[in-house]
Amino acid sequence: MTGYARPPEGNPEPASSPLDDPEWLARARRYRRDRLRWLLADLALDLAAGGLALALRLPVITQERVARRLSAGPVAEACAIASYAAGAWLLGLPSRAWRDLVLEHRYGLSTQRGRSWLADQLKALALSLPVETLIGQGVLAAIRRWPRRWWLALSLATAPLAALFSFLFPVVVAPRFNRYRPLEDEALAARLRDQAAAAGIQVSEILVTDLSRRTRKANAFFAGLGRTRRIVLGDTLLDEFAPDEIVVILAHELGHQAHRDLWRLILASTAQVTLTIWLAQRLAERATRYHGRRIGLTRLDRPAALPLIAWLAALAGLALAPAANAFSRRIERQADRFALELTGDAGAFIRAMQRLAVQNLSDPEPPRLERWLFSSHPSIAERVAAARQFARQRRLS
Ligand SMILES: [Zn+2]
Repeated sequence: MTGYARPPEGNPEPASSPLDDPEWLARARRYRRDRLRWLLADLALDLAAGGLALALRLPVITQERVARRLSAGPVAEACAIASYAAGAWLLGLPSRAWRDLVLEHRYGLSTQRGRSWLADQLKALALSLPVETLIGQGVLAAIRRWPRRWWLALSLATAPLAALFSFLFPVVVAPRFNRYRPLEDEALAARLRDQAAAAGIQVSEILVTDLSRRTRKANAFFAGLGRTRRIVLGDTLLDEFAPDEIVVILAHELGHQAHRDLWRLILASTAQVTLTIWLAQRLAERATRYHGRRIGLTRLDRPAALPLIAWLAALAGLALAPAANAFSRRIERQADRFALELTGDAGAFIRAMQRLAVQNLSDPEPPRLERWLFSSHPSIAERVAAARQFARQRRLS
């Protein structure tokens, strides 16, 4: 990354921000609009294709074919469920390909080509197919055991399952897609550890991962629960950011851990799943009662009902997405605040945000409606403004 003059002593911010360059800004806005068009088309196509498959009775036809080949029973049911999951994967493949192999390359943000991309997609399918099949069988078992209250049974199962997944994800799933190594820069890790120790917080393991295999975008995240807890830095970030900027990014991730955000997210997603499944149950019961003949489904305790329930749950989930994003933005703002208080370095925070925007081609200030509907993080402009306000308060106090 070039174009960053070190700020003069005593001035926490660079004299001019690279985000003020009108050419760069126009390009970032074009990229945001292209991503938005892709997202809307993807959602519409997904729902339309799912609706068409249901109208054509494809789930029922598949279930009957599988049952004819294999004698009816749990194996036949598992095969039917697995074929629905594989069908959904296949339906979404062209859209994902366009995003990753066309759009991201058009803006010079991707480093991945076709073959390696397809290998990733197949790996994801191989990992998700058994899990989705098991979940489908669990849903069917719940519908059979509690025909009126299965939404509640699924809601109660969500938090333990999400916790188990969060625990296993960094050690079972993530290493299949990326390499992870400990952060070798001891000085950097020690700086964070000292600041955290002063605040009475223990820093979990810090790892570096090879995001550069797929993207030029910078990222850092936290993952895992209990013994698998870790903070992960993308090599794309480590290579481009100045040490004090990396320290505030690490402090932001540490904020997520100090605030137990993984548990807060699990609880929030449990609430979301509960509402989604409750709505999906009500709608699915109506669909089978009033349109059962037309869709070839008169009861929900069959594998063929699962695509209908999943489609209705996706519809309900879409309606709840703005609330989930609002919650996510709130915990992100809190992690930002934590990073500023821990490091006391608003200047480094602002430079890190600006560098993040440049490297990821993020429009610093997307339209309000777009942020409200789709953004899991506050905009770069909001995050920078919050850091400036923090610095002002510090100077006044
Ligand atoms: Zn965060």
